[in-house]
Amino acid sequence: MPRVPPSDAPAILERNLEAVQTRIDAACRRVGRDPDEVTLVAVTKYVDSSIAQFLVDLGHSDLAESRPQELWKKAAEVAGDVRWHFVGHLQTNKVKRTLPLVSLAHSIDRMDLATEVSKEASKSGSAVRSLLEVKLTNEESKHGFEPHEVRSRWMDLLQLPGLQIVGLMGMAALEADDGACRAAFRSLRSLRDILKTPDHPLPILSMGMSDDFEIAIEEGSTHVRIGSALFEGLMNDS
Ligand SMILES: *Cc1c(COP(=O)(O)O)cnc(C)c1O
Repeated sequence: MPRVPPSDAPAILERNLEAVQTRIDAACRRVGRDPDEVTLVAVTKYVDSSIAQFLVDLGHSDLAESRPQELWKKAAEVAGDVRWHFVGHLQTNKVKRTLPLVSLAHSIDRMDLATEVSKEASKSGSAVRSLLEVKLTNEESKHGFEPHEVRSRWMDLLQLPGLQIVGLMGMAALEADDGACRAAFRSLRSLRDILKTPDHPLPILSMGMSDDFEIAIEEGSTHVRIGSALFEGLMNDS
């Protein structure tokens, strides 16, 4: 359970949200970007539905989960106008139940998932707005396409009828310093610039988390996925 009395939670959340938004605005200003180009995606995995609900009640609609079961649960429990994002590793046997809930899938991280998502979406004649997750580091633990794999499979990926690829997602290494983060984000943006065409402009770059979102914004991020900075003081097990 959160450490604070439930009655304090909305005020704490409002303060955290304002602080994060101020930092987003400042990062945009440093590089001459319009803050409206950057979507704050609130990763709710550290908090209960009640806290996620407060955020929605504050007018924030972009929420994300990294585990399918948590997404199913919160999507059922949180009321209001929510756009759910999925940002984690998705097993193919969970695609069917997860897709209908998701407005943007950030983590299409391998060919068999891309194929399964497309197959499932095609059944209802729809296409899932998706980002390809690209591995930007050599960490064994990270999921994602290798950059060269995205390029070699690009035509195959574009031909999947149920997958609407609108951009790329990537993460810096866990222990990366600012320079390494910046280099990782820059490489994702370059890959996007290489792949994009007038037919497939790939407007979305999902990069940046609590520890590195300002650098990500300076490097062109359009979607920052933020958990701990937003829910500081409200997280379970903290
Ligand atoms: C947990 C998570 C985040 C948010 O992490 P914080 O560092 O707490 O902001 C972002 N993206 C993914 C894929 C995550 O799993």
